[in-house]
Amino acid sequence: MDFPLSVFEKWKMVCPKCGLVQKVSKVWRCKCGHPLTLITRMEDIQLDPLILKERPLSLWRYKEVLPIVEKSIVSLGEQLTPLIQFDSMGLESCFIKLDFLFPTGSFKDRGSSIMISAAKLMGVKEAVEDSSGNAGASVAAYCAKAGISCKVIVPSYASGSKILQIRAYGAKIVVKGSRSDATNLAMQEAEKGTFYASHVWNPFFIEGTKTFAFEVWEQMGKKEPDVVVLPVGHGTLLLGAYKGFLELKELGMIENLPRLFGIQAEGCSPIVDRLHGGSGSASSSHLAEGIMIRDPPRLDEMVKSIVETGGDALTVGDHEIKENWKKLSEKGLFVEPTSAVSLAGLEKLMEEGLVDRDESIVVPLTGSGLKTPQKIARLIS
Ligand SMILES: [Zn+2]
Repeated sequence: MDFPLSVFEKWKMVCPKCGLVQKVSKVWRCKCGHPLTLITRMEDIQLDPLILKERPLSLWRYKEVLPIVEKSIVSLGEQLTPLIQFDSMGLESCFIKLDFLFPTGSFKDRGSSIMISAAKLMGVKEAVEDSSGNAGASVAAYCAKAGISCKVIVPSYASGSKILQIRAYGAKIVVKGSRSDATNLAMQEAEKGTFYASHVWNPFFIEGTKTFAFEVWEQMGKKEPDVVVLPVGHGTLLLGAYKGFLELKELGMIENLPRLFGIQAEGCSPIVDRLHGGSGSASSSHLAEGIMIRDPPRLDEMVKSIVETGGDALTVGDHEIKENWKKLSEKGLFVEPTSAVSLAGLEKLMEEGLVDRDESIVVPLTGSGLKTPQKIARLIS
């Protein structure tokens, strides 16, 4: 189905795998089976830093680079998330970005706000998503705001508190076996015509997460950091950060891409396995539920974004996650354990000489501690 809307005429959907280019539509998968990406002609875009000064402090201030028009914006009042100095571990210029302060308590709102705005523009009435928690809650919230009926399919291990949050927004919950069982069921519904509001497959989602890079650039005085360290499961924040910094470079706003480092949990680390061979770790993380993704559809894109920026990937174990979660709590930062993965990763990157203490470093904290009370009860008992 085509949408004769001028905003989408400036954008195209492209397959990163086979290169097929097509018009923007509700399609979420290429004929070759790969997820799609949105592109536009960057040379037609002008993002004037002086105009930014006059705009509200929200991710919508970067509207020139977003595939959406103002009249269709579905917003819960997202603000620029704070970037605060982290003066621990002998770090001189490390900044923590508090992405857990979004309306639903996780960075996923970046993607959901753009994706559900696009859905509204397309006249969508029903959406389906599969998620183990945070993305489901975020999509459910934005669908509620947009008046779109929402169904979230969760695996049987999804945490009770996250299911409650999804239900509170009025979404229908379906519990279905494993994570891949949940995905398969959602895809079946999407193939029958329901809008697939997938944080993994829907290309609009990454258009939202790329605002992370624009915010970091602006908050650091209109320059890029040397290093960004991110927790990676499906890689929605990693890919958004990469796309955002790449666009800033294409717009002539920065000269170099920051080195992107992806941190994964022991026992589930497809990027590390691809870059360095199998980790051989027998133990599997019990703390990093948000990133336990064995077979992410955008794996090739993630590996490319890391390699192209000169970054790398490594794994951390539950002991390291726990220690770094404590370090954050002791500094007043209450996050879910998955969020501590990136700080644990940074510590290891410095030990291995991949990041220097005097480099400018940005570490996002992705999810609120209020999301996972049972896990945190075990951490502090
Ligand atoms: Zn393709």
